[in-house]
Amino acid sequence: MILPTRDCVFQTPGYVPGEQPQTTDFIKLNTNENPYPPPSEIFEVLQGELSKVRLYPDPVSTQLRKAAARVFGVSHEQILAGNGSDDILNIALRTFVNPGETVAFLDLTYSLYETITRVHGAAIKTFPTNEKFELDRPLICPEAKLIFLASPNPPVGQHLNRDYLEETCQKAAGVVLIDEAYVDFSAENHLDFLAKYDNVIISRTMSKSYSLAGMRVGFGIASIPIIEQMDKVRDSYNLDRLAQALGTAAFESYQYFQQVWAKVCQTRERLIKSLKELGFFVFDSDSNFVLASAEWIAASELYSQLKDQKVLVRYFKHPRISNYVRISIGTDEEIDRLLEAITQIKMSH
Ligand code: PMP
Repeated sequence: MILPTRDCVFQTPGYVPGEQPQTTDFIKLNTNENPYPPPSEIFEVLQGELSKVRLYPDPVSTQLRKAAARVFGVSHEQILAGNGSDDILNIALRTFVNPGETVAFLDLTYSLYETITRVHGAAIKTFPTNEKFELDRPLICPEAKLIFLASPNPPVGQHLNRDYLEETCQKAAGVVLIDEAYVDFSAENHLDFLAKYDNVIISRTMSKSYSLAGMRVGFGIASIPIIEQMDKVRDSYNLDRLAQALGTAAFESYQYFQQVWAKVCQTRERLIKSLKELGFFVFDSDSNFVLASAEWIAASELYSQLKDQKVLVRYFKHPRISNYVRISIGTDEEIDRLLEAITQIKMSH
């Protein structure tokens, strides 16, 4: 049988996530998870939730949104909870863009924007970043119904220029989604844009800074009219009970997580310094990862030699970054192991 697959789905290669090894003997520095677990107190909520798994969860994640609202300094009506922030990106696309209409984003950025836009059957307009992978002017695209901009922006992980971002929001004819997945490791955020621009959505995630990647909790924060429309588009029960309970509890440990973010940033700076001493070029980063390259070894070779030593980093085949590896910030011990492995590889090279 020839399957009636939509053309746009058939022609989309699909998102390629980082490897999730099936064994536990790897030092995993490839998918930007938080190396530190959440504080043990947050698991106390689990028992109560487990006894209720027979019942559907709260469809609108009320407690979680109220906890998020306190942290983000907005009302909970301005928040939509998502099954990870990827869910929020998809909901925004399905709320504001008809198939055939245009979505704009940078080249390079988070590759999921392209995948979901293609699958949706929308047109893509990309805007080049400069040779340092920066946004070096406002992104002006009058035909775009939706603009995705990540700040900090992968693959480098630096925040975007605030003035260019603001002008993008001012001049946009459609909605601008500022993806702040890594913002807690950065000094810049754009929550203040919400009071000025009613076409802005900020997306946040608990995957990186709140150590809950496995629970899939994300948020869209925007004006109430935007959230009301997006709420109609989300899946009926898009967050399960455990995700809602753990997410809510994690916000109550806000101070613990602030210490974690400071620690991750400190380790990041140490890693950058050590990699430079080993002959690497490393971009500054406002995220929990760094992008690095060395003239003495090809990135693909470094990736596979590290993998042989049970250290997983991320290697992308994309031509603009195929000279680089991306390294997530681990614990101090994990980073020491990485640096030892690189030192050994360098000596035998
Ligand atoms: N945005 C960016 C820029 C990311 O790198 C990621 C992580 N893959 C996400 C969003 C998705 O995060 P989540 O786990 O919340 O879906």
